[in-house]
Amino acid sequence: MTNHIPVLIVGAGPIGLALAGDLAWRGIPSLIVERTDGTITQPKMDLIGPRTMEFCRRWGLEAAVRNCPYNPDQPQDNVWLESLTGYEFGREPFPSPREEAPPPQSPVKRERCPQDMFDPILRQWVESMPQATLRYRTELVGFDQRRDGVVATLRNAAGEDESVEAEFLVGADGGTSTVRQALGIEMKGQPTLTYTTNAIFRCPNFWGLHHTRKGYRFIFIGPEGTWSTIVAIDGYDRYRFSVVGDANRRTLSESEIRALIVRAMGKEFPFEILSIVPWVRRELVAESYGGGRVFITGDAVHLNSPTGAFGMNTGMQDAVDLGWKLTAILEGWGGSDLMASYEAERRPVALRNIREATANLQRMISPREKLSPLVFQPGPEGDVARKTFGDAYTQMMKHEWFTLPIHLGYRYENSPIICPDGTPPPDDPPMVYTQTARPGSRAPHAWLGDGRSTLDLFGQSFVLLRFDPKVETSALEAAARRCSVPFDVVDLDHDAARQLYVSRLVLVRPDGFVAWRGDALPQDANAIVDIVRGASLRPQLSTATQLRDTTV
Ligand SMILES: Cc1cc2nc3c(=O)[nH]c(=O)nc-3n(C[C@H](O)[C@H](O)[C@H](O)COP(=O)(O)OP(=O)(O)OC[C@H]3O[C@@H](n4cnc5c(N)ncnc54)[C@H](O)[C@@H]3O)c2cc1C
Repeated sequence: MTNHIPVLIVGAGPIGLALAGDLAWRGIPSLIVERTDGTITQPKMDLIGPRTMEFCRRWGLEAAVRNCPYNPDQPQDNVWLESLTGYEFGREPFPSPREEAPPPQSPVKRERCPQDMFDPILRQWVESMPQATLRYRTELVGFDQRRDGVVATLRNAAGEDESVEAEFLVGADGGTSTVRQALGIEMKGQPTLTYTTNAIFRCPNFWGLHHTRKGYRFIFIGPEGTWSTIVAIDGYDRYRFSVVGDANRRTLSESEIRALIVRAMGKEFPFEILSIVPWVRRELVAESYGGGRVFITGDAVHLNSPTGAFGMNTGMQDAVDLGWKLTAILEGWGGSDLMASYEAERRPVALRNIREATANLQRMISPREKLSPLVFQPGPEGDVARKTFGDAYTQMMKHEWFTLPIHLGYRYENSPIICPDGTPPPDDPPMVYTQTARPGSRAPHAWLGDGRSTLDLFGQSFVLLRFDPKVETSALEAAARRCSVPFDVVDLDHDAARQLYVSRLVLVRPDGFVAWRGDALPQDANAIVDIVRGASLRPQLSTATQLRDTTV
């Protein structure tokens, strides 16, 4: 039997689920297939960054994530130390999730919500919408790409094959992506940064066993430098221990891992190892994000060191970028080149983020290069060495802890579907994020009163913010109507927002990015609409994503 669906999504990790959810939220049906039964044996990601939380707010999931079963009272300090019973070199204090406030630039804050809590939230949301169909224990085994769609072969747990026709296929199928490999797309960069081993262990009395104050992440530094970390993965009794490793492959037995956990504690203690997962830390981005009728997203197109928590959060931005663009094509108002802008916008962001993640890793393991043995020596000389080292490490590691420029400050600088306003790119200093409404940027947040943010105005349509009701906008409204582009004009009489958005008119896309701004409409309002819907591209558009027939 052959079924026909608008979008077939392969992989129900967080990115596939987010894409299916975003499409359904926009009214677009999809089928999402996942080869496992959805059980997460070991959570990978656990930090939901502020941009992802802004998406969750848009989708109505903010409270569910904020109230997830992670311990809301667990302090989120990052700590560097010899062992939990040894010397502490320094720490960066952070409040518990309950105490932390949103940064001034966002209506939401980051949340600690590990994958075995976050994926079920996304899953429940997706399953609550009739447009999305979610099938576990179903694998994509091949597909045939044609000019007008894709014919995919799916295999269920009983080994039975089924043919499905889709207008678009999206591979959200993780680092070993079947879809990417079938398209013959290579990942470029550094395939091996470290061979790392993660172990989840349970220890109910963890905080009563040592003098180290509570925190979220502990980086253990011995005479050989940085060698392991422990994170409070649920804030109660489960911890994730990572042997950071290096570029040499090493397989650790359970008894070796047990001994290393004891070393991190500094003494024997009772604990239970729940799972062990060896993995490779990489710095890779796909040469292409797909084209024609097949696109790839999330870990299938970028892999980075978890240092900074950028992996899933970058993928969520991919999913949101794809979501409105696929909707535009399927509803008939997207231009023929709109899908090409997916790679043009998202790939540079991935390149930036993977490099930053590796730089964070290098900073974290830098004590391997140079560390005075005095830092482990008791007495006043040791105290001085510890203070000198600890202060310098604390200062250096701030890059990894203060990451709003990565989470909120990413820009679509050379996007073919953004209309530049001629202003130069803003400064991009590390750790500092200044909101801007320059085209190609995330539209700024300002509180509007009654708990509403400017961000709450965006999502389903293009929104033209008008800060002066006398400015004529009917030509742009008519141009949008002509192409059936969903379009709303919102008058804002609000000083803080006016200062942030600068121009009297600001056009914001359905994903919450500024597409155009000016103090008045140009002569040809149709040109703006055609650029932002991908029907009339600015000259630098690549031709990489022309329709092509592929059979795999
Ligand atoms: C230790 C660690 C900590 C991390 N911490 C963070 C963090 O705090 N924040 C963050 O943002 N990121 C973090 N990451 C990265 C994050 O976990 C990943 O970026 C994220 O899981 C990627 O999601 P995804 O949906 O793209 O891929 P995946 O989670 O890999 O999901 C892909 C899915 O596709 C399925 N699949 C594959 N092939 C097929 C097929 N042919 N047919 C059907 N199904 C298929 C797989 O079974 C899988 O379920 C961390 C990673 C690690 C290793």
